[in-house]
Amino acid sequence: MSRYSLFSLIRNGLSNHERWPRAWRSPEPQPEYDVVVVGGGGHGLATAYYLAKEHGVKRVAVLEKGWVGGGNTARNTTIVRSNYLWDESSQLYEKAMQLWEGLSQTLNYNVMFSQRGVMNLAHTLQDVRDTQRRISANRYNGVDGEWLTPAQVKEIVPYINLDCRYPVLGASFQRRGGVARHDAVAWGYARAADRLGVDIIENCPVTGIRREDGQVLGVETGKGYIKAAKVAVVAAGHSSVIADMAGIRLPLESHPLQALVSEPLKPVLDTVVMSNAVHAYISQSDKGDLVIGAGIDQYVGYAQRGSFHLIESTLQAIVEMFPIFSRVRMNRQWGGIVDVSPDACPIISTTPIKGLYFNCGWGTGGFKATPGSGWVFAYTVANNAPHRLNAPFSLTRFETGHLIDEHGAAAVAH
Ligand SMILES: Cc1cc2nc3c(=O)[nH]c(=O)nc-3n(C[C@H](O)[C@H](O)[C@H](O)COP(=O)(O)OP(=O)(O)OC[C@H]3O[C@@H](n4cnc5c(N)ncnc54)[C@H](O)[C@@H]3O)c2cc1C
Repeated sequence: MSRYSLFSLIRNGLSNHERWPRAWRSPEPQPEYDVVVVGGGGHGLATAYYLAKEHGVKRVAVLEKGWVGGGNTARNTTIVRSNYLWDESSQLYEKAMQLWEGLSQTLNYNVMFSQRGVMNLAHTLQDVRDTQRRISANRYNGVDGEWLTPAQVKEIVPYINLDCRYPVLGASFQRRGGVARHDAVAWGYARAADRLGVDIIENCPVTGIRREDGQVLGVETGKGYIKAAKVAVVAAGHSSVIADMAGIRLPLESHPLQALVSEPLKPVLDTVVMSNAVHAYISQSDKGDLVIGAGIDQYVGYAQRGSFHLIESTLQAIVEMFPIFSRVRMNRQWGGIVDVSPDACPIISTTPIKGLYFNCGWGTGGFKATPGSGWVFAYTVANNAPHRLNAPFSLTRFETGHLIDEHGAAAVAH
């Protein structure tokens, strides 16, 4: 398969762009693989890619019940940052950030990673203290972060109303944070994994996990039984459903999380602004849409939509902070199902069943972790033991009590 380059762009331009090869194959499943990855979102595809690239695992398949990147990967608002409070989280997300910084080159696919900065507003004295504490913790962990005064906030975001019902007393700012193109992340990893021989099998739901004497044997799927000594599950909001197939109960709740975008506007906002207190955040996509999100809907469920009152309160907060947007029309709204763990941290872990691994619990904030998550999960699956970076995120922390409480500590949910 040819590399994407200026030369290939010109060559294909000369043939009216009608001869581009398919970005990845569409193979029928083999009867047996060394590793089957369940879930073709960004995390699953990244896992498969690093398994093949870094660990030389030869026979890897990604089984996706729908289409590649059609889950939360395609539904998220793409905020990328690594300024989490606790050492364990900030080191994991910082690994991801470092991979993001070279990802387009690594994958030979433009993931449109734009380090336009992420701002977390502080509205109360307690917010100010918490935010400054987090910035300090970030710096100790080698993660960039700075405190902005209200005047500095206004300089970066001139249209913000500092004296609204939610007065802005300052903000944290991570300049290396930003956004990326969600589909491109899935497609880039799919194409790069395919080049390394990974079979990506779409429209192939996993319906059962066969095991014997505490060891995985393979998976039942919509396309028949597939044998595999190792099964790595990366199914976001449906992780509990798959765990149930293996008789495991995960400490997760699946909630709807919504987002919405406006009609396209001329460039008006060139950073990401988030507010924990009002539970709203906003950025502007490269197409010009305002991308707006909120917190989770409080009920559990698997329907990929949310309730209206949440959109209403989010937009009310956005308009309060940005009166300039009060006449902007919203174009689309959607929901995804996020897998929320009790400490708002992921589970990247071996399980009591030999050969069965889970990577889940990313909740509302896993997109930013995609490269790092795939990287540490591939290590865990290949070595049957966690990497130093994901060892604290094992399932056993819910038995030992070594939780990493990022709830409320890491600014807004994302
Ligand atoms: C509205 C919204 C906004 C968000 N905003 C942000 C943000 O700004 N920043 C951020 O970092 N994170 C954000 N997130 C969270 C982020 O989207 C997720 O944490 C991340 O995308 C999870 O990636 P994934 O690859 O694990 O999941 P997914 O992309 O959901 O992939 C899992 C895949 O598993 C497949 N699957 C499920 N069951 C089966 C089965 N039985 N057999 C085969 N395949 C199966 C699904 O079809 C799906 O494609 C947001 C989420 C939502 C919903």
